[in-house]
Amino acid sequence: MQRALILGGGVVGLSIATGLQRVGVEVTVIDTAPALGAASWGNAGHIAIEQVEPLASWPVIRAAPRRLFSRGGALGLPPSQIKRWLPFALRMASAANRVEHGRAALRSLLTNALPAWKSLSEQLGMPGLVRETGHFVVWESAVSAAAGLAAWRSTDIGTARFHECDADEMRQLAGLMKRAPGGAIRFENTAQIADLPKLADSLRTSITARSGRIVNAKARAITHRERSVSVTLDDGSTTEADFTVVAAGVRSRELMEPYCESVPIIAERGYHLQMTDHRWPDLPPVVFEDRSMIVTRFESGLRAASFVEFSHLDAPPDERKWQRLRSHVAALGLPCNEPARQWMGARPTLPDYLPAIGRLPHAPNILYAFGHQHLGLTLAAITGDLIAQLATQSPTTVSLAPFDLQRFS
Ligand SMILES: Cc1cc2nc3c(=O)[nH]c(=O)nc-3n(C[C@H](O)[C@H](O)[C@H](O)COP(=O)(O)OP(=O)(O)OC[C@H]3O[C@@H](n4cnc5c(N)ncnc54)[C@H](O)[C@@H]3O)c2cc1C
Repeated sequence: MQRALILGGGVVGLSIATGLQRVGVEVTVIDTAPALGAASWGNAGHIAIEQVEPLASWPVIRAAPRRLFSRGGALGLPPSQIKRWLPFALRMASAANRVEHGRAALRSLLTNALPAWKSLSEQLGMPGLVRETGHFVVWESAVSAAAGLAAWRSTDIGTARFHECDADEMRQLAGLMKRAPGGAIRFENTAQIADLPKLADSLRTSITARSGRIVNAKARAITHRERSVSVTLDDGSTTEADFTVVAAGVRSRELMEPYCESVPIIAERGYHLQMTDHRWPDLPPVVFEDRSMIVTRFESGLRAASFVEFSHLDAPPDERKWQRLRSHVAALGLPCNEPARQWMGARPTLPDYLPAIGRLPHAPNILYAFGHQHLGLTLAAITGDLIAQLATQSPTTVSLAPFDLQRFS
């Protein structure tokens, strides 16, 4: 039996462990933070199969100045962090010239994302985990609704479908807000994960029930050998396996750099508020597009999430982001009350907004899967399948060529 060490126990790492167990690999997951601090458990829960257009595109770059936090928008480019985000932005601009390539690559993954989630939830014995109820996009004024609707109509949304909300749906949305919306659409075949703590629990339970191990430790370094790998942990001990998979989110860079010329990943930090005291009805996620805010009702509470802040992973959070979220909630008159739990975490993002999924050619016992940007939850299950296929030398469901890390060398 092959043995694998998976470095990182976020949703990507745990899905990989589950995928590898399915093909008979013995797994050990090494994770620094088995609590719920990682982006994997702080996200908006949206299975976003509609997000086929790569964010590395000229329209997104051109819109950046008017989306700045200082102008009321969701984009944070802290001047103190310019040495991080400026080189990233230059690489992003270069990737924007290959937007067609990015779109085709994302489409190949997103087409398979929801079927992969459905079979993962079956494997976990949790049929209610994936709720295929779509999501709403709401605009507050008729003017922004007309512009927003036109934009969605001209956007590639892959296999997703939407319609303009009917009178019933508009009534439901109006019931959430103090002023009726100016317009809204409903995506029909996108989905939501019912509850993220429950997902984390069931992935971990399933892994350990099949004799997998989850070790609470930090992986410090990987040593590649001809037929094996060994991983040094923070306490100086080492652990061995036939191969390793690096799935440590933004921190994958530290583990990969000794083997790669360039891993230009950045922490794209987001913030949320979560409230347990709410009267939000049983509706799918609602995107308030004028405010770049998504509100999701999970079983464990109501979550309002927003912001893309390009910063250092370990820089202190910016309190103003939570204040802004509070003022959005109050301005819309959403049916929820304090106290709210405040959370901040980092999307792992590469400049072309494509994940890195593959195997190092010069160190073939090191596989990797990170850099899933805004789509890590959406793409976790298909990533688990792809790594299992790669590890067993089987044909992969989609071509991994666009996700090869060598593209940055
Ligand atoms: C506000 C917000 C909203 C979002 N909403 C959505 C959404 O609705 N849908 C969607 O698809 N995506 C969403 N995302 C993106 C998604 O959350 C991420 O892409 C995803 O969580 C990345 O998962 P990951 O497992 O790669 O990384 P992480 O979640 O960062 O997990 C990495 C894990 O590795 C561990 N680790 C790090 N270094 C080491 C080490 N050296 N040794 C051992 N362990 C280590 C960490 O502790 C962590 O547990 C959102 C993100 C944010 C911030």
